[in-house]
Amino acid sequence: MNNVAHIPSYLSAEHLGPWETFLVQIDRVEPHLSAELRPLTPLLTRPMRALIVNVPIRLDDGEMAHFEGYRVQHNLARGPGKGGIRFHPDVTLAEVMALSAWMTVKNAVVNVPFGGAKGGVRVDPKQLSLAELERLTRRYTSEIHILLGQDKDIPAPDINTNEQVMAWMMDTYSMNEGRTSMGVVTGKPISLGGSLGRKDATGRGVFVSTVEAAKRLGMDINGARVAVQGFGNVGEAAARLFAEAGARVVALQDSSGAIANPSGLDVHAAKAWRQQQGRLSGAPGAETIDADRFWSVEADILVAAAMENQITPAVAERIHARILVEGANGPTTPEADLILQERGITVIPDVLANAGGVTVSYFEWVQDISAFFWTEDEINARLDRIMREAFTAVWDAARAKGIPLRTAAFVLGCERVLLAHKVRGLYP
Ligand code: GLU
Repeated sequence: MNNVAHIPSYLSAEHLGPWETFLVQIDRVEPHLSAELRPLTPLLTRPMRALIVNVPIRLDDGEMAHFEGYRVQHNLARGPGKGGIRFHPDVTLAEVMALSAWMTVKNAVVNVPFGGAKGGVRVDPKQLSLAELERLTRRYTSEIHILLGQDKDIPAPDINTNEQVMAWMMDTYSMNEGRTSMGVVTGKPISLGGSLGRKDATGRGVFVSTVEAAKRLGMDINGARVAVQGFGNVGEAAARLFAEAGARVVALQDSSGAIANPSGLDVHAAKAWRQQQGRLSGAPGAETIDADRFWSVEADILVAAAMENQITPAVAERIHARILVEGANGPTTPEADLILQERGITVIPDVLANAGGVTVSYFEWVQDISAFFWTEDEINARLDRIMREAFTAVWDAARAKGIPLRTAAFVLGCERVLLAHKVRGLYP
């Protein structure tokens, strides 16, 4: 029986979503795990603990509204839970479970001393006023308080959450505890124990891992054509860093549509336009194209930095790029993964490519608990080193075993997690 058959009773089979993707990934990895650790794999195919909460808030008009919230700790074998908080109308328990599991693997791939966790609220934050968003954040934080703590579980930003939301979370936790706890949340404002370099860290890790891949494939970043899906915190920083390195950013896509220019877009101008207009489409100096046409744009590097399940089999057939970099978590479906493999497209998997964010979260946590802060140069240098070392370990294992980078990254990460389980032993 494969892992996909192990579905917990609290998830309905029709609503597995990204959790099924994770289970398929484990199925593909299991045969490559060392014989002594393989029997422990079932520890990865169910989350250690999942909390579902109701988040009632008072709206500005005096009415009460209810939102569903989650915090899932997938695995704590290597350290406290670590992973972001997502506010999105499509958040489900199955999605948060998968995102927490990917955090377990990701944290192990870059070897930071954390387990995997993730949280989310099923809400469209764009429909809330700032005051409502603050009340939602504070009530959600209070509801999941029992799981949190700098040595228990440490949230961070994810889709639609930012440093202000992290400041409210840190404050709410601290007020409830009756003491200021800096290290309970990362991705905070610099004025509140945040780390220099954290904001760009995920995009920077995406960039560094792509440079490493390009080097090995004989591709020059200078002059390479790059298309970026998603223009949030990750996509924007990655696009900017590619442009600064001399690459041509030929297409950008956000939820409003896509823009393209074969001779290269001005990323700063696109950002300014998006800030003013709330959308990319219509940006000056670019052709506004149909969101679907984005996938057929001629590019050497494609960065998927939006959401899960974007690269479907149909999309995988159309991609021109030689390198697909997963800035988002879970953007490629398992079926599409096989097509990309057949087509010889190098996929830098999420658990490696986007690990820069949590790596600098680790630096932020270390700085907070030691109350000693580092310079931005130190942070970027340490981040670049960790990303390059993790990339090399994954690339070399993939070449040695003749397996895709995703499988190699999962083998590295899962073996570290399972080894921690093995030496800790089974309680009681
Ligand atoms: N949400 C980010 C991720 O998916 C960052 C998590 C963190 O910094 O804890 O990796």
